[in-house]
Amino acid sequence: MIPVQGLDGQTVAVLGLGRSGKAAVLALQEGGVTAVVWDDGAAARDAAQADGFTLRDLTKSGGFDGIARLIVSPGIPHLYPAPNPIIAAAWRAGVPVDNDIGLFFQSFATDEWSGYTTMPRVIAVTGSNGKSTTSALIHHIVSENGRATQLAGNIGRGVLDIDPAHDGEVIVLELSSYQTDLARALTPDVAVLTNISPDHLDRHAGLGGYFAAKRRLFSEGGPDRCIICMDDPEGQYLANQMAMGATDDRVIQVSSGQKLEHAAWSVFARKGFLSEYRKGRQVTSIDLRNIPGLPGAHNHQNACAAYAACRTLGFSPKTIEAAMRSFGGLPHRSQLVGEKDGVWFVNDSKATNIDSAAKALQAFPKIRWICGGLQKDGGLAALLPHVGAVQKAYVIGRDADDFARQLVGVETVVCGTMEAAVAAAAADAVAGDVVLLAPACASFDQYDSFETRGDDFMAQVQVVMG
Ligand code: ADP
Repeated sequence: MIPVQGLDGQTVAVLGLGRSGKAAVLALQEGGVTAVVWDDGAAARDAAQADGFTLRDLTKSGGFDGIARLIVSPGIPHLYPAPNPIIAAAWRAGVPVDNDIGLFFQSFATDEWSGYTTMPRVIAVTGSNGKSTTSALIHHIVSENGRATQLAGNIGRGVLDIDPAHDGEVIVLELSSYQTDLARALTPDVAVLTNISPDHLDRHAGLGGYFAAKRRLFSEGGPDRCIICMDDPEGQYLANQMAMGATDDRVIQVSSGQKLEHAAWSVFARKGFLSEYRKGRQVTSIDLRNIPGLPGAHNHQNACAAYAACRTLGFSPKTIEAAMRSFGGLPHRSQLVGEKDGVWFVNDSKATNIDSAAKALQAFPKIRWICGGLQKDGGLAALLPHVGAVQKAYVIGRDADDFARQLVGVETVVCGTMEAAVAAAAADAVAGDVVLLAPACASFDQYDSFETRGDDFMAQVQVVMG
């Protein structure tokens, strides 16, 4: 645990008692802070009380008397579509609003570090897609190179839950837009942006607000190195803004698809090969095509970002390459879960938005596509330019009929359930086909999470594989 520093003897309120909220309470207490808690849900309040937490009704007048700060969980809207009333009350009372990420950056460095040979470093990864894969890959490479490392944030443990850093340790944080938007301290040593595409727009009042939230990772603390993917206009804008000029290698430009030979420092993938260029000279070439954990051009973007992050730590290209080869990939992201008679079954349940599903549809040559669920940001029509490899779509979920109508020009069958979809796709498939779950939708109409949806897909695949 990271004991919170700088609030000793004060009282701090924590709103929202999920994983990060509970970790915040413990870290505050460890730092000599009196923590009081509140949650909009009565069941969560009862559970908190049973766990020995002190409740404070923040909805009452005077609820913020004597409170030094309000710590908010990422699931609670702080501004859009409408501010949570408790957050608005904190504003009125003049109480600074923060989150666990802000507390982490304020508290991470300790006096002990003055005895360290190598300062601990924080690498923080944000972006619309590929955050988890990139973060996990960096963590894997660092660990394979024998350096102490911990993975936290939106993946793995809550940030305040990690252990205090050892000499030379590398902390890898995956941060969502909700987390970067609110943190009052945001000072990673290395900041990574994978890409920007529309997602969670209701929470940010549109794409501009969403990008602004992510951009804070670069603009608040001034990281030593910025690793920025140049495949979206937002990335190009940010890279330009963070660099002093064409020879400034504080920014490492990354791409999957573009040649970036003229940047001061760049890492890009083309036709399955990763290249690193520094000051106009090629430093490395790595064949990514047979790395099982990183299939498709989208994963090559993640590989470039992770490679660049590890180069900032001084690792050699050879050791990074060796570690990438042993990366197993993450469950529910382009995960090969079975093969029968030349037909592959791939679980990409985490493809919950248009861009991630589009990338999955470009990663395989012949696809039997299982899609559908709870519609997000404009439905499936935006995927029509990417359905060239789709042999047939098998639509599931509450909005299945509506989706089937949107997929103009694609042979489509409404299946409703995963069981029916996997059975139909497997019956139609011939050798060389990939039965791909890439829903392009949230899962909450039929499942409690994308993980349960992916698990159901895998269970149905087991049934058809016999
Ligand atoms: P995040 O943590 O940002 O949601 P994940 O690594 O969990 O990212 O991947 C989420 C989804 O996006 C998965 O469907 C995955 O296959 C896909 N994906 C992974 N990397 C990228 C990328 N660089 N660009 C687009 N889609 C990606």
